[in-house]
Amino acid sequence: MGKKVKTRFAPSPTGYLHLGNARTAIFSYLFARHNNGGFILRIEDTDKERSKKEYEEMLIDDLRWLGLDWDEFYRQSERFDIYREYVNKLLESGHAYPCFCTPEELEKEREEAKKKEIPYRYSGKCRDLTPEEVEKLKREGKPFAIRFKVPENRVIAWKDLVKGSIAINTDDFGDFVIVRSDGSPTYNFVVVVDDALMGITHVIRGEDHIPNTPKQILIYEALGFNIPEFAHLPVILGEDRSKLSKRHGAVSVRAYREEGYMPEALFNYLCLLGWSPPEEGKEIFSKEELIKIFDLKDVNDSPAVFNKDKLKWMNGVYIREVLPLEVLVERAIPFLERAGYDVSDKEYVKKVLSYTRDSFETLSEMVERLRPFFVDDVEIDDEYWSFLEDMKAYDTLSLFLEKIREKKPETPEEVKKLVKEIQKTLKVKPPQVWKPLRIALTGELEGVGIDILIAVLPLEKIERRIEKVLKRLS
Ligand code: GLU
Repeated sequence: MGKKVKTRFAPSPTGYLHLGNARTAIFSYLFARHNNGGFILRIEDTDKERSKKEYEEMLIDDLRWLGLDWDEFYRQSERFDIYREYVNKLLESGHAYPCFCTPEELEKEREEAKKKEIPYRYSGKCRDLTPEEVEKLKREGKPFAIRFKVPENRVIAWKDLVKGSIAINTDDFGDFVIVRSDGSPTYNFVVVVDDALMGITHVIRGEDHIPNTPKQILIYEALGFNIPEFAHLPVILGEDRSKLSKRHGAVSVRAYREEGYMPEALFNYLCLLGWSPPEEGKEIFSKEELIKIFDLKDVNDSPAVFNKDKLKWMNGVYIREVLPLEVLVERAIPFLERAGYDVSDKEYVKKVLSYTRDSFETLSEMVERLRPFFVDDVEIDDEYWSFLEDMKAYDTLSLFLEKIREKKPETPEEVKKLVKEIQKTLKVKPPQVWKPLRIALTGELEGVGIDILIAVLPLEKIERRIEKVLKRLS
């Protein structure tokens, strides 16, 4: 029996949760849950300068919003004692050494490499200092970093679960720093200590970390840890095939959340970026279904292209057909409220949404589209007044007002019937009734179904809007 699967998501709290990282989190999560395994959230905040508590809070909040849950939670900044212990082990076993080179000296080495047009590697100058020399420099108070001793000309190879066989020669990188001169340990070192101590069986992360993996494998070996499986996910590209970045518009989960995307839709869409469902043709999946069918073997090794239109379409599907109406109402209310609409009558909101949920794809679009249902009054543009006069709107609107005062139509069908009746009585064509009604009730010539609006809007609001128009036309 194999070991229980355990994966982790390890974000650095240095900014908003990027769509690419969210996808990494989702794939790690799905892989763990698919295998009845554990999932860890680990905040990688060893870089004190760039890590911010607000970002950590937002990351956690956005991950929860997406529907992720984790079994264990860690913060690297609280684990420095553990890292120190393992640094000492590496120093004692001769796998690491103090390096007293100053930033200026290292800069010079870098420049020389540049001049010779060869990739930079640390010269190894401090590698062979004697214990006496080290003691002396320490006594003099010289600041030092700690470097890992990389064996020369060794090929480090692994079978990546997504990218296949990868082999990197250690000569491609020199002895690298594992503790900075300010005493803070670096990513490549702490990631190994944590993944090993936390029992991570599968390291799933972006392919930008491939060059780090051989360094990490060397540390696993030096500390006598088991080496986990690695799965490096291909990058996500924008439509122009360059790496997805701010240049392509919104790239944070937060931005989509604020625009009124449904977490289930974003989750679903991100899964399709690089993963092919076993059953062709199907695209809409719940989290539970994804847990059942997700496997790393179905992750493609070539980059995926982010298509915002597709995501928006999918969001529309969730709004229209997938989510229960009650859920949609709960999510819509804060958006409507923020726009200043009166949402005190939840039943009214529910009724409006039950008729209109197929007419928008995001909740921001909803706010615009449903304005006539929620505002007290509508403004009518000057250009429409002459239009109303030309259409002889006075007659149609006054007859309409008379009729709805007798009996207010309560369904779109009843509204249609009433309009037909008016049309017959006044011997006019349908647009001559619909258009004035639309302008009077919405202030626009386009928008939400006017039959729906009339069926749902309270009588007094309809009366007020039509009376206002009649007064000006008379
Ligand atoms: N903190 C690293 C990142 O955000 C984690 C990389 C890893 O998963 O090993 O890129």
